[in-house]
Amino acid sequence: MKKEAKDIFNFKETSDACVKCGKCVPVCTIHQINPDETTSPRGFIDLLGAYKEGKLELDSNAKDIFESCFLCTNCVSVCPNTLATDMVIEEVRADIAQKFGISWFKRAFFFLLRNRTIMDIVMKLGFMFKTCVLSIDFEGRGLRARFSLPMVKKGRLLPSMAKTSFLNSYPEHITPKESSKQKVAIFIGCLANYNYTTIGDSLVEILKILQIDTFIPKKQLCCGAPAYFTGDVDTVEYLIRKNLDYFETFIDEYDAMILPEATCSAMIKHDWEVFCKNHNKSELIPRIEKILPKIHMATSWLHDNTNLKEQLVAKGKKFDDLVTYHDPCHARKVQGIYQEPRNLLSANYKMIEMSDPNRCCGFGGVTMQSEKFHLAELAGKPKAAMIKETKAKYVSAECSACRVQLSEAMNNAKVETIFKNPLELIAEALKE
Ligand code: SF4
Ligand code: SF4
Repeated sequence: MKKEAKDIFNFKETSDACVKCGKCVPVCTIHQINPDETTSPRGFIDLLGAYKEGKLELDSNAKDIFESCFLCTNCVSVCPNTLATDMVIEEVRADIAQKFGISWFKRAFFFLLRNRTIMDIVMKLGFMFKTCVLSIDFEGRGLRARFSLPMVKKGRLLPSMAKTSFLNSYPEHITPKESSKQKVAIFIGCLANYNYTTIGDSLVEILKILQIDTFIPKKQLCCGAPAYFTGDVDTVEYLIRKNLDYFETFIDEYDAMILPEATCSAMIKHDWEVFCKNHNKSELIPRIEKILPKIHMATSWLHDNTNLKEQLVAKGKKFDDLVTYHDPCHARKVQGIYQEPRNLLSANYKMIEMSDPNRCCGFGGVTMQSEKFHLAELAGKPKAAMIKETKAKYVSAECSACRVQLSEAMNNAKVETIFKNPLELIAEALKE
């Protein structure tokens, strides 16, 4: 179910519009692992209505409940009134952040997201000294905590760190040998920029093969999603303004700005506008609406606007490897994108569906991956089990947050399947 900006709500209206049918309850990610009415979409809506009427105090108990939502949007997809429970939760988190403050490590992280140069230095130092506190996973899946760190327990699998970020690895403009009819810009996302840099390498390779003029905008900043899901309003506004000012300097010259990340794409395409409406920044809305037609998830744009599928069929290597595709919530439920990556991958790989590809992986955001990691671990277990059942060599999803979560869930469950972004698999098939 696509979130539209017109679906703006207020707590009271959302609460009054809930007919208590309960359709959302069985599909709710938190309710599946904590079967209690208070941690269900219907329960959240009831509590939020009471909070806005002044009948419920936003105390630490209420905070704990509202922070347990995974923002997966499963509830929105099945609700007969398409009530945007995820969006009301996102909004109450701003109130939580205002009342309780934001913990030091999240503030430090969001500071780095706002300051690319400092983040570059920190990540470089992290790469150089990573083996002091982390060990390299012998199967190459990432880094493992040698001992317990703040919010990270011993043995947890963390994303690897690149020596040089994606944005610092390429020139701004990559021009194909033959003259090109198409021009795209790449928005890479923070995890693919610093941790999973082979995603960007693969996208650049694919664009070269397709003879597409490529621009890598070096001053792009984080889309704001980690701060938005945590209620850090100032950081979200800062990042929207900075990115918007920058995008407007070049976007008219390009056919599209493509993103190999579902969450960043959903944040820019849907949540920027929602945030501005809810936080009285309506002067930004016409500017956002102007750039939106150019924002696309990478597989979706490549599928619909290039001959990539034909090239994969005609020239790509054929593999016997089984690939199972996991649907990131921010791709399928928020943007309706699920056929495109499968269609491209099926040209060169044998596809096998897991029992419920649309079930949330349980990443849930910064809070879920730190203070509430026990919930993320529980939510990841069924997903790891269904991936194991497929006996696939690769699980693929166009989302690095899913990669962090599923790699750890598979690691815990001793599943040997390897996670790859679809662009990595596609580039592998096109390699000479
Ligand atoms: S967004 Fe997901 S976890 Fe949150 S209430 Fe809806 S279904 Fe439950
Ligand atoms: S599906 Fe919608 S209307 Fe029904 S209980 Fe859930 S939120 Fe309320």
